[in-house]
Amino acid sequence: MGQADGVILRLKDQGEYDQVLTLITKDGPLRGIAKGAKRSIRRFGGRIETLNRVTVEYTRKKEGSLAVLKESVLTEYFEHIPENLIALARCLYLGEFIEASQGEGEGMFNLYLGFLRRANAGKATEEIFRLTELKLLAYLGYCPSLSRCASCGESISGKARFSFSKGGSLCPRCQGKESLSAGRSHPEISLETIRALEKGLGLKDKVLDRLKFSKKSLLEAHEIFPAFIRYTLERDLKSLRFIEKIANYDLPGTDKKA
Ligand SMILES: [Zn+2]
Repeated sequence: MGQADGVILRLKDQGEYDQVLTLITKDGPLRGIAKGAKRSIRRFGGRIETLNRVTVEYTRKKEGSLAVLKESVLTEYFEHIPENLIALARCLYLGEFIEASQGEGEGMFNLYLGFLRRANAGKATEEIFRLTELKLLAYLGYCPSLSRCASCGESISGKARFSFSKGGSLCPRCQGKESLSAGRSHPEISLETIRALEKGLGLKDKVLDRLKFSKKSLLEAHEIFPAFIRYTLERDLKSLRFIEKIANYDLPGTDKKA
């Protein structure tokens, strides 16, 4: 019998009574079936909801196979997140990012929980969302080089562009050497944005709420990070389309309530 502490990222009905769950845990994503979940109030009742944090008991034939959940205990829930569509979409997107990356580790799990708690308190700003993407990339070993050119290592002082393949900023000289054509995007990254992101990464968690990026930096980060994440994962994240749909009504930098 195994035990896991996780956040329910996805729920799918299977048959009349069962549900298949995908959980984000510190040991990586866990998929399990809750047999009779829709009628066993004693074992699962009311606890199996998206983004609920639960402790589950499970058995599994072998590593990687579908776990059979025996019981779940609700340990934390975020009832206010669904009240804000942007916050909800971001929480699902970050979860899907962790799942797709097969990311694991206490630090990564706590970072995700921290974002959920902020979102629940109405304090998951766009700045914090971008920093969370950046920190998740760092946990996965893809922390982009920002203030130094990812190609030659020189300090960035002028007009930089972000290269997905090099994993960071490119100085004007290296932009000339890299072929910037062939349909590959190299979005601009200004010195202002580089400084804002590095400042944010250096801040202690409790003072993050005060962090403000300029509209220009929010737009640049919006152009860079989701696309860089897509590049590193080599796949699309479904919830990103959901965010983009919402963003059509609400441009980056205008969701101060998120
Ligand atoms: Zn360079």
